Amino acid sequence: MTSTAASPGPRVVIAGGGVAAIETLLALRALPGGAALTIAVVAPGAYLTYRPLAVAVPFGQSPARRYAIHGICRDFDATLRHDTLRGVDADRRVAITGRGERLSFDALVVATGARQHPPLERAHAFLADDSTSLRWLLPQLRRDVVRRVAFVVPGATGWTLPLYELALMTAAWARQLGRDDLELTLVTPEEMPLAVFHGDGSAAVAQLLRDAGIDIVTGTYARRYDGETLTMTPGDRTLAADRVIALPRLSGPAIDGLPCDRDGFVQADEHGCVPGVDGVFAIGDAATFPIKQGGLATQQADRVATRIVRARGAAVRDLSTRPVLRAILLTGEQPLYLRATISGGESVASTASRECLWWPPQKIAARHLAPYLADRVELDPARAHLNAVAPSLSGQPAVVHADPVDAGPELLGRDG
Ligand SMILES: Cc1cc2nc3c(=O)[nH]c(=O)nc-3n(C[C@H](O)[C@H](O)[C@H](O)COP(=O)(O)OP(=O)(O)OC[C@H]3O[C@@H](n4cnc5c(N)ncnc54)[C@H](O)[C@@H]3O)c2cc1C
Repeated sequence: MTSTAASPGPRVVIAGGGVAAIETLLALRALPGGAALTIAVVAPGAYLTYRPLAVAVPFGQSPARRYAIHGICRDFDATLRHDTLRGVDADRRVAITGRGERLSFDALVVATGARQHPPLERAHAFLADDSTSLRWLLPQLRRDVVRRVAFVVPGATGWTLPLYELALMTAAWARQLGRDDLELTLVTPEEMPLAVFHGDGSAAVAQLLRDAGIDIVTGTYARRYDGETLTMTPGDRTLAADRVIALPRLSGPAIDGLPCDRDGFVQADEHGCVPGVDGVFAIGDAATFPIKQGGLATQQADRVATRIVRARGAAVRDLSTRPVLRAILLTGEQPLYLRATISGGESVASTASRECLWWPPQKIAARHLAPYLADRVELDPARAHLNAVAPSLSGQPAVVHADPVDAGPELLGRDG
């Protein structure tokens, strides 16, 4: 059955219930002409999970906060379908769901995220959506069960910052426990620490690792782990490790009828348009852009929302295609704020600061989603959790560094 909307407004289907999808919804409703759209959100789960704070869970914080998607859809007048996007009939402009429903669209936004896979046999994958992930770590550190821990980035695609956070927070806990015998090593294919912030940001992270006594092995892939020894390539080097903690490998959603790369990520150009498929956009972790980060996903969402209303005649200008990467690195002590401009898929200038560089000071820096969540104090996971893991973030942070283009705090409501 093809559903034809009763409302006369142009039909937008948003597939996904993560930050990219929800930012698209909020941005569309905020833009001129957005109120006239008929919007359907197709998402299998009931909740938007705020993943960035999952790294604090192994260190005693409560599970990552979740927001009911139906409440958000109600706030922004969208229909929610608990279903999945399975395929697209591009010629007919129809989205086909997992349950076989056919949804006609004028614009379709694919924001279905990446799939997670076990990275390395015998390694412990850190799964942000699993609240029990790594809960064993602290008890084992306390009981002296482990002495050598390796933290492994499995591949070039993704977002490596959580692994640096896990390593730094483990080191901070080890200091508190008086475990000065602990040997922590981070193994990564990146050419330098947290390479996406190469320049000042990467240098600041390298210094943090040195200060924490964490060794880093760059330009290296972990190939095998037998429970005692990690074998790395190139060079067949080995590292003794009692435990290996790794980020999952990622693949794309491989939606039928859409062009995807060999890992299943949906092809999209710098505007989020899927080439050769009119009216279809792909954003966030589902798309081919190699840096899989929530803040970037929301900037892609804002750009796509702008294009959707522009295509329907709204007088709004396109947003910059030079995204800005903003990240808060939790360290177990004072957090580090990192910012970089991205061009051609790579960062071109990075800054590191002990003070917040943007407002609101959320881990996922999003123009619409961040203030929306921050306004709901009772629902705001960031402040509640960060108060505990990063005391300097409590209350009003001591913002402000001058943004390169402007004096004063960088408000996420601005372009870029
Ligand atoms: C541990 C960890 C820490 C992180 N820390 C940060 C951070 O500090 N800052 C930051 O900016 N980013 C961070 N990230 C990255 C950030 O979480 C992701 O980049 C971001 O969630 C991507 O958003 P998304 O909406 O594209 O995908 P997701 O958040 O993965 O959402 C995908 C959504 O699509 C739904 N879905 C799946 N398949 C289908 C389908 N077929 N049809 C319809 N819906 C479907 C899913 O149920 C989900 O609701 C972190 C990630 C991890 C794992």
